[in-house]
Amino acid sequence: MMKTLSSGNCALSVPARNSYRMVVLGASRVGKSAIVSRFLNGRFEDQYTPTIEDFHRKVYNIRGDMYQLDILDTSGNHPFPAMRRLSILTGDVFILVFSLDSRESFDEVKRLQKQILEVKSCLKNRTKEAAELPMVICGNKSDHGEPCRQVPSTEAELLVSGDEHCAYFEVSAKKNTNVDEMFYVLFSMAKLPHEMSPALHRKISVQYGDAFHTRPLCMRRGKDVDAYGMVSPFARRPSVNSDLKYIKAKVLREGQARERDKCTVQ
Ligand code: GDP
Ligand code: MG
Repeated sequence: MMKTLSSGNCALSVPARNSYRMVVLGASRVGKSAIVSRFLNGRFEDQYTPTIEDFHRKVYNIRGDMYQLDILDTSGNHPFPAMRRLSILTGDVFILVFSLDSRESFDEVKRLQKQILEVKSCLKNRTKEAAELPMVICGNKSDHGEPCRQVPSTEAELLVSGDEHCAYFEVSAKKNTNVDEMFYVLFSMAKLPHEMSPALHRKISVQYGDAFHTRPLCMRRGKDVDAYGMVSPFARRPSVNSDLKYIKAKVLREGQARERDKCTVQ
């Protein structure tokens, strides 16, 4: 199955197997949107704008292959628990954010981590296989320094210990400290191309989108840059119905992949 994205006059085709969703969760005001903004455009805003639920899409051409990353930037307070459950179900990779100067926000991350494992284990039982769950826990606002700290690193590290698909990072979206490193590790754990990290591809703005998958651009193998990323300007959050279809297709795809792996091993 191919998804077609429109960019200017040109349609970008992304194979379904190369489409992923990153879900960002955490209490209000911890810096979720600031981290997403760093990821998408490298900027930081001091001003606080409450998020209801923001949806972004970034498309990549990495060594000639097209990839799509959808980003769900959730609100801290979830008036509709079923919507949060749906967001979790559709997520392929997760970023759980707390603020290093807020004990409460750390407690919320602990609850969220538990909820993600519970919700995802429903799918796991469906497919009768252990699911890998790439997840980064981010202690944000490290720029506030030690006097403000309410969560010791050792305690936060305990949340990820013993899980090779889980990592803990202390970051500052404001100072752009450790943010690229965090994305790099998240994509590595998810076995996604590491060129998806902000520092490792050339950013293309939409007015040059038509050239996005033309030959000269994607066939520059061996040259200095062979990865490009473009933020899709017209991305809209898919409907609940589309989300449900996405989950179903993913479960099917994972099941088929596992069957193939079994055949290869035998
Ligand atoms: P969200 O509700 O989790 O999406 O939080 P926002 O990203 O909207 O950030 C909430 C507030 O914290 C805003 O005023 C940001 O400018 C500020 N903020 C976000 N990240 C950082 C950071 O790393 N350091 C500092 N000092 N402030 C930050
Ligand atoms: Mg927000």
